[in-house]
Amino acid sequence: MSRIRFDALNEASKRKPIKVKEKGRRSETFGSNVFNEHAMRQYLTKDAFTSVKDAIQYGTKIDRKIADQIAAGMKDWALSKEATHYTHWFQPLTGATAEKHDAFFEPMAGGGAMEKFGGDQLVQQEPDASSFPHGGIRNTFEARGYTAWDPSSPAFIYGTTLCIPTVFVSYTGEALDNKAPLLRALQAVDHAATAIAKYFDKNVTKVNATLGWEQEYFLIDTALAASRPDITLTGRTLLGHSPAKGQQLDDHYFGSIPSRVMSFMRDLEQECMLLGVPVKTRHNEVAPNQFELAPIFEEANLAVDHNSLLMDVMEKVAQRHNFKVLFHEKPFAGINGSGKHNNWSLATDTGVNLLSPGKTPMKNLQFLTFFVNTIKAVHNNEELIRASIASASNDHRLGANEAPPAIISVFIGSQLSQVLDELENVTKGKLSPQEKTDLKLNIVGKIPEILLDNTDRNRTSPFAFTGNKFELRAVGSWTNCAGPMTVLNTIIAKQLKDFKKEADLLIEKKNLKKDEAIFNVLREYIKASKKIRFEGDGYGEAWEKEAKKRGLSNHKTTPEALKAKISKESIILYEEMDVMSKIEVQARHEIELEEYTMRIQIEGRVIGDIARNHVIPTAVGYQNTLIENVRGLKEIFGAGFKKQAKEQIELIEQISHHIAEINSKVEAMIQERKNANKLSGQKAADAYCNKVKPYFEEIRYHCDKLEMMVDDNLWPLTKYRELLFTR
Ligand code: ADP
Ligand code: MG
Repeated sequence: MSRIRFDALNEASKRKPIKVKEKGRRSETFGSNVFNEHAMRQYLTKDAFTSVKDAIQYGTKIDRKIADQIAAGMKDWALSKEATHYTHWFQPLTGATAEKHDAFFEPMAGGGAMEKFGGDQLVQQEPDASSFPHGGIRNTFEARGYTAWDPSSPAFIYGTTLCIPTVFVSYTGEALDNKAPLLRALQAVDHAATAIAKYFDKNVTKVNATLGWEQEYFLIDTALAASRPDITLTGRTLLGHSPAKGQQLDDHYFGSIPSRVMSFMRDLEQECMLLGVPVKTRHNEVAPNQFELAPIFEEANLAVDHNSLLMDVMEKVAQRHNFKVLFHEKPFAGINGSGKHNNWSLATDTGVNLLSPGKTPMKNLQFLTFFVNTIKAVHNNEELIRASIASASNDHRLGANEAPPAIISVFIGSQLSQVLDELENVTKGKLSPQEKTDLKLNIVGKIPEILLDNTDRNRTSPFAFTGNKFELRAVGSWTNCAGPMTVLNTIIAKQLKDFKKEADLLIEKKNLKKDEAIFNVLREYIKASKKIRFEGDGYGEAWEKEAKKRGLSNHKTTPEALKAKISKESIILYEEMDVMSKIEVQARHEIELEEYTMRIQIEGRVIGDIARNHVIPTAVGYQNTLIENVRGLKEIFGAGFKKQAKEQIELIEQISHHIAEINSKVEAMIQERKNANKLSGQKAADAYCNKVKPYFEEIRYHCDKLEMMVDDNLWPLTKYRELLFTR
């Protein structure tokens, strides 16, 4: 075994679980490092408290004087928790989180010092943002950007730093982050959904989108991960032969959690409790060393922040336990990849889940209204949803046979399908009393019973109704939920707005009763959105053919998928819903294309380096041993040596063949990279996708063949079996 590999395995094998001591009951620690309602009541004046509450509930502006009071309370609270620094915490378009810490401490004139933090520091900051991606926004406009406090996501203390969630915008008002468009989308969906919820209950004044994500990830020992340049630099393995044992025995899923991993999970959960992230479930996933963590769902903005925070915290806690977390959607070829299901629904401030049927016929009609509108919204915007989850790493997962396909479709189960089929036959215009009774009792009225027994879940659907929420399953494990959540809530807002217009028209112009109008519009929506509904096997080839016939998109690569983001329709939609301006949309598209290009470029460099610096020299070394052996045989057996040396000679030839192939493919790939580097934007991304990337598989094929031939003692790269089964 090579020295590097031996040392790494040796180190990994000695790891012991770290003892984690829980600091009291979880119910007691939960949220204790969050400036939540409980803390605010303690530390804020009544005026300040009401002002923050109103800002959260109704989006009202906070007066500057009050901001000073809030800052003072927040500072006292933070100091009581031994915080020394504060930071505006934001989500630039890199997809990760950013922070720049400032100390509370300030020296005073004449000596001495004190802790200072005022309204100005709370409300607005100007980070040096020149190296964050901006997609041209700050070239054409004012160069500076600033962060502004988002009171709807509470401040928290991480380590010794008070973190204040903020949006990041340019001085001309363009969003430079993921949060600002999300907040606008959430506001749009609130307005549109509240207007419709009022049909059914006048008391509703606000509708919150809710999000419950499920985060999948891999844990690899840090020593082993560090021994692989591809994992270190790209987050995935670019080569490696499948192990003799993979996941075929299905013995990992929901199996007992290895003790070292359990120790990491407990430590992580403890951090989450302090930070108010309501983590609830943990379990093994399908692949070896793959796990999942899921919280209880929350208001979408907070849930998105919590997911970003969690990914950050996970990496830090993992380090303490000598693990590296892999968020990449496909770290190992031939082994299940990771996703991040986004469970989504809408909830009123009267405590009603709008995607859950109720006890009365009216409540069931309300459910049906939101249910059918969601399907219609997905139908009208399937390409935009696909675009919202596109990334170089998620391309490995979507459509790769074990993940949701790159085709967006909606699964609702056979019984709800039947309900929709029956609703297609509702009479146009006014309904007879008989028909109304029939609808109430036999069709709509049956929904609650149906959902009680909603057992026919389809695991292969990218967008499935699961009883009281929709589950967007195609989101990548590395993806920031803000992207897909912005799209989903924007398209639902637009759909609900259109629905209201149509229903109101029927009520006013055609004199229909409210429920008659609703049935009439829903009937047409059900008919119009049929092609997006699919109940069968989403992983099958038959579906690809069928989807093509239906005219559904099937974009397998990011450069293709992203095009929908800047289509004329998308820009009109974003502008109409006040979510993003044309400039903001184009900037994001540009940034994402560039990120794609850079990721493939890095992978190309890394695979070229590994192939030439690790694989070929090792293969040549082993080949020399074989040649030596053949020479020896010739010495002993003379002319008859060929019989004894047959296998060796064959191996020597095969090794030469693979080395030659690797060399020529790497050379050709480098040439294509040079060509691609002369291009920019869409053309560069296309070239990296279609001309450079295809070489990865070819180079890998020959490297993996050599891995199986070469003496295990010489192989320098930690093997799949070692990466996946060391715990
Ligand atoms: P799985 O998909 O693993 O079978 P479930 O279907 O039980 O799991 O999904 C549970 C997830 O759904 C949890 O993360 C939970 O927080 C979330 N969830 C449940 N209700 C809602 C809701 N109304 N809105 C958003 N998310 C929800
Ligand atoms: Mg799920």
